[in-house]
Amino acid sequence: EKRFPNEPAYIQAVSQVLGSIEDVYNEYPAFEKMNLIERLCIPDRVISFRVTWVDDRGNVQTNMGYRVQHNNVLGPYKGGIRFHESVNLGILKFLAFEQTFKNSLTTLPMGGAKGGSDFSPRGKSNAEVMRFCQAFMSELYRHIGPDEDVPAGDIGVGGREVAYMFGWYKKLTHQWSGVLTGKGLEFGGSLIRPEATGYGNVYFLQNMLSTRGIELAGKTVLVSGSGNVAQYTIEKCLELGAKVVTCSDSDGYIYDPDGITREKLDYIMELKNEERGRIREYAEKYGCKYVGGGAKPWTEKADIALPSATQNEINEEAAKALVANGVIAVSEGANMPTTPEAIKVFQDAKILYSPGKAANAGGVAVSGLEMSQNSERLSWTREEVDQMLHRIMNDIHDNCVKYGTEEDGYINYVKGANIAGFLKVAKAMMAQGIY
Ligand code: NDP
Repeated sequence: EKRFPNEPAYIQAVSQVLGSIEDVYNEYPAFEKMNLIERLCIPDRVISFRVTWVDDRGNVQTNMGYRVQHNNVLGPYKGGIRFHESVNLGILKFLAFEQTFKNSLTTLPMGGAKGGSDFSPRGKSNAEVMRFCQAFMSELYRHIGPDEDVPAGDIGVGGREVAYMFGWYKKLTHQWSGVLTGKGLEFGGSLIRPEATGYGNVYFLQNMLSTRGIELAGKTVLVSGSGNVAQYTIEKCLELGAKVVTCSDSDGYIYDPDGITREKLDYIMELKNEERGRIREYAEKYGCKYVGGGAKPWTEKADIALPSATQNEINEEAAKALVANGVIAVSEGANMPTTPEAIKVFQDAKILYSPGKAANAGGVAVSGLEMSQNSERLSWTREEVDQMLHRIMNDIHDNCVKYGTEEDGYINYVKGANIAGFLKVAKAMMAQGIY
């Protein structure tokens, strides 16, 4: 805290991990001697740069650009790029730190990183987004590569942005390589990558429910966000017979008591991915409730909550409302959407609660599979990738149960995920010496 006083999100993420690995840390006295914690918490490298681009009116704009290469002990740096006005170094350091443990949990050979810019694609033309992506990549390309650092998408970076950055990387380096994941299917992308985070979270949720003999079918679900993760979370919930009654964007949320059907989800995908409109328009089209002013859906009644928008979107008050309304499970599609106080509310109430580094690891797992396919110069079928994703999510769940089951039988998924993710990284760091 003394060293990084202006990075509260980073301190929050680090504190959460350190708070739950104490027992295993003390089992290995060599960790202390090797100063493992400081070496693990401070990123290997932080790159920051100015991005200069020209908007449609001919005005010259500047934004900040960053890449945080946190740890590459398990494999090349790997983690998404976020474009959003709220991006700052502290946020990216928290995300890169979390990514290191998440990638470890997938069992695939990937280190942890995150990058981004305080540029927001919202309200910008395609040409502006393209020029920005090119300007961003003009600096970033020096620091990445298929065996060095492989970025992907995140908030504000979808297929369109990844494709523009990929095209410019290729132009600058004269090389076609699997340097980014989340690419289009025509040029090296993997089937199931767009779906992976949302589907993976629902597979993880099914595993959690099954520890209490509960089925997902017939349950009512709250989802937040309406971007990539939210859309495919809703899709998988529908497929498995659950009813999703909410989704949101940064302006507010919709509550549709009849449930979001396949047809309505198609409309959300068109609205958000093509027209780049606001979720309020759903309420206007289908005549349901809309709450604006940046409201979040956590006061609505349901059995399950799947936060899929952004960090710290469930605070203590929201957590209490969810528990009071009878929620039995919360599984994080987003990264760190639940504040520490809210996590305590869930755990004290002994409801099923899983942190993003376990529950949303499906996205980066399939990114890892995209890297494998690019190296092989082959593409696997939808079924093959989906099966691998499903297996990876089951394995992550098993690991959480192994390390997180408490004396009274309650599965502390935070502890389980942190210990399982940490041990592998720590042991690899010990083996690779001091550097
Ligand atoms: P998208 O940009 O596709 O969607 C983000 C959604 O969240 C949008 O509906 C957006 O609303 C909303 N949102 C963003 N910021 C805020 C905010 N400050 N307050 C309220 N709502 C907000 O991003 P993704 O779906 O890819 O990412 C969502 C979350 O999932 C993030 O936490 C991300 O880190 C995490 N994640 C994503 C993975 C992936 O594979 N994409 C993998 C693992 C985790 P608006 O349209 O108004 O901006």
